[in-house]
Amino acid sequence: MKIRYGGTAAAEGIPGVFCGCAVCREAREKKGKYIRTRSQVLFDDKLLVDFNADTYTNALRFGFDLSALEHLLITHTHADHFYPAEFENRGINYAKELGVETLTVHGSQDVAQDGLQWLVKQNRLAFDVIEPYGQRQIEGFFVTALPAEHGTSHPYVYLLEKDGKTFFLFNDSGFLCDEAMAWLREKGVQFDAVSYDCTFGTSDASFGGTYKAQHLGIPNVLEARKRFVENGNYKPNTLEIITHFSHNVPTIGYKTMKKIAKQYGFVLAYDGLELQL
Ligand SMILES: [Zn+2]
Ligand SMILES: [Zn+2]
Ligand SMILES: [Zn+2]
Repeated sequence: MKIRYGGTAAAEGIPGVFCGCAVCREAREKKGKYIRTRSQVLFDDKLLVDFNADTYTNALRFGFDLSALEHLLITHTHADHFYPAEFENRGINYAKELGVETLTVHGSQDVAQDGLQWLVKQNRLAFDVIEPYGQRQIEGFFVTALPAEHGTSHPYVYLLEKDGKTFFLFNDSGFLCDEAMAWLREKGVQFDAVSYDCTFGTSDASFGGTYKAQHLGIPNVLEARKRFVENGNYKPNTLEIITHFSHNVPTIGYKTMKKIAKQYGFVLAYDGLELQL
């Protein structure tokens, strides 16, 4: 399984679109891995997870051919993961000689937007509404939608299985609910890799337990790891990646996070990171 991170930032990107904070100033100055576009991940060059306003840029930067893309998986409808206005460019007057006639967008009921039905009528777009715990075979992947703990109506995190390898894409979300943890336990799921939400960087996304987290920071990733280990979902060599960073955290700059990631044995995602499972 080839995993390619397109973007690795939270909603505003790093630097934030309009932001002049120290983190964003540093990113503008140093460029390279300090620049993080909005989050998306491509699996085996075939299955793209999430579709934000940076998709076009990332396709150019990393050589994704969007005309050949047949399946898209959406975690949730925050704009840093779902930017439906871009689909208009797939209409018959705007996209010719496509490698694939219909792009199928898989996700929760939130994703199937009325305003895009004209594209469905043109066979340029199709929606596949997945129920919670629903499973699909997509591009050779066995995909399971698990309910996330996040701020939209029906957010998902996805389990992707292929050729005996299991990848868990765990953003955007706080700790999984008891029901989802029970599902993972009962199915005997073991992660070869888990990609953690690390929006809060070194900070605690639950503010000392006073707030029901909708994202994670390092202290929460460590707690989530502990819960997954106790739940039987870890292997001795489970690979752990951290991604989806917010410029609002002063210590989130690439160099600082690299040091922290090394300390805990995490792989620090950056735009363009490629992994092979
Ligand atoms: Zn996000
Ligand atoms: Zn900023
Ligand atoms: Zn979100």
